[in-house]
Amino acid sequence: QDADADAGVRAYLHVNTEEALAVAAEVDAIRAAGGAEAEALHPLAGVPVALKDNIVTVGQPTTAASRMLDGWMSPYDAHVVERIRAARLPILGKTNMDEFAMGGSTEHSAFGVTRNPWDGQRVPGGSGGGSAAAVAAFCAPFALGSDTGGSIREPAAFTGTVGVKPTYGAVSRYGVIAMASSLDQVGPAARTVADAAALQQVIGGHDARDSTSLPEGQADLVAAAAGRDLAGLRVGVVTDLDAEGLHPGVKEAFDRDVRALADAGAEIVEVSCPHFSAALGAYYLIMPSEVSSNLARYDGVRYGNRVVPDGGGTIEQVMGATRAAGFGDEVKRRIILGTYALSAGYYDAYYGSAQKVRTLVQQDFAAAFEQVDVLLTPTAPIPAFRLGEQTKDPVTMYLNDLFTIPANLAGVPGISVPGGLVDGLPYGLQFMAPAREDARLYAVGAAVE
Ligand code: GLN
Repeated sequence: QDADADAGVRAYLHVNTEEALAVAAEVDAIRAAGGAEAEALHPLAGVPVALKDNIVTVGQPTTAASRMLDGWMSPYDAHVVERIRAARLPILGKTNMDEFAMGGSTEHSAFGVTRNPWDGQRVPGGSGGGSAAAVAAFCAPFALGSDTGGSIREPAAFTGTVGVKPTYGAVSRYGVIAMASSLDQVGPAARTVADAAALQQVIGGHDARDSTSLPEGQADLVAAAAGRDLAGLRVGVVTDLDAEGLHPGVKEAFDRDVRALADAGAEIVEVSCPHFSAALGAYYLIMPSEVSSNLARYDGVRYGNRVVPDGGGTIEQVMGATRAAGFGDEVKRRIILGTYALSAGYYDAYYGSAQKVRTLVQQDFAAAFEQVDVLLTPTAPIPAFRLGEQTKDPVTMYLNDLFTIPANLAGVPGISVPGGLVDGLPYGLQFMAPAREDARLYAVGAAVE
């Protein structure tokens, strides 16, 4: 990691040069010595990886880009970190993100913005903008992100890289700072589909410490990422997603890409998913509800940097001061939204209705996958926007999640692959597949990239 190479982009919150070099030297020594130990090395041993800063790591700070956790050191490693260490991938450092993964631009980090390597005046997307920018700027060949509503896929689209949200439960969430537990999923960011597959192969599989971890082993994702013939592939284009907010350049590029798929022999099927348009509203009730519960632990007693009011105070006053000082505006907004949605008088009207919409979205997917092998949408309705352009009105930024959120609500996997340029900026194509069919996404993604 060349610290200067990152200077303009600021993808990293913490750079871990010493430890990374030590692991790389260890791998070199094992390779040089040859023999059984060298034979047993993982094929990716020595290839470095960057981690989003909500993945807990021993020996490095984990802050989730929040003042609340500034300086905090985890006493244990996340499951994915254990896997990465076992395969001897050096960890380059921790990447910037929106605070507690809430946002779509990385502008809600308490420690400054990350810039898009394609255009320093633009955002890299979010919440995992640091991971995607590190990969796009050649400051890491691989990175890990977390995707609750699009935080791996949207930054991939904005930076011309590949990002995957695996099937819910395919990768353990043990040691990943919870945002909305029923939606959160860890996944890879990389420059090619084959790289992303190789990284998911390292981190995925069953883990008894995550009660939602899928019981079965993983398919051979690396083999799948050799690609496939597109002839005969049934690709569903969702007709109900012709959003008003869709950038005309993105629409044009998308239509062109759909024609190219048809030319390659894919069968293009228009499918209706009538409830996808309600998914965004449901997400922005379910997600904050879970946020309000998950973030209750940051009270300065159990977790978080304690702030004591001048002259002392009661326990409630200490907790209040801790949360007032530790959380940024976007986090506070969501906690308040969530506690409101869950409050006794409104529970059925808001949280209850949102859960019903979630079921309807799942049924839309089930019906669609009876007709097609994969669904296709643009990853985001617009290319990377300018820094500051969408921070005044939170709802404008929420609308960017239109295409990515349905996959989280249904637990199905999604991949964003570079689709070409719109106005000189990258745009992403998103494929989605049925749950547990991550291998299918890697095969299709590799065929189109
Ligand atoms: N942009 C979405 C949000 O703000 C996605 C966040 C995520 O996936 N972590 O909620």
